[in-house]
Amino acid sequence: MSVERTLTILKPDCVRKGLIGEVTKRIQEAGFHIVAMKMMHLSSTTAGGFYEVHRERPFFGELCDFMSSGPCVPMVLEKENAVADFRTFIGATNPAEAEAGTIRADFADSVGENIIHGSDSVENGKIESNYFFAESEIVANKG
Ligand code: GDP
Repeated sequence: MSVERTLTILKPDCVRKGLIGEVTKRIQEAGFHIVAMKMMHLSSTTAGGFYEVHRERPFFGELCDFMSSGPCVPMVLEKENAVADFRTFIGATNPAEAEAGTIRADFADSVGENIIHGSDSVENGKIESNYFFAESEIVANKG
């Protein structure tokens, strides 16, 4: 296994519910190193660019409205096998189907408002990290 980067976003519902600290604590306890982090309020256009692959889906408008409804917290995480391990850690897209103890099972209300994002491939981990962070904003000293 090799060290990978994955991009997570603590979505606007996570911020609204006051869960930044709790979710970040769980991320770190699970062995993911935070190497970049910021708080942003996305425009609908920036949210749409991030979810470009879903543009033709019926929920695209709702997704952009939700992702631009308040501040969110993107982070770049590093760990061996980070991409697959983080997907397991957050649980299924639909919280009703997420395994007990995962972030989405514990905190998410619906498929639309599901608390957290995680890249779905190593390649997307790089592309998505670059969407939010310049290489100069990614630190070498792991948090
Ligand atoms: P993920 O990789 O687990 O986040 O899931 P997907 O890539 O399939 O979908 C991206 C995001 O679109 C999800 O995390 C949800 O926020 C949103 N989404 C997916 N399906 C639906 C849906 O049926 N309705 C709504 N409102 N949002 C959805």
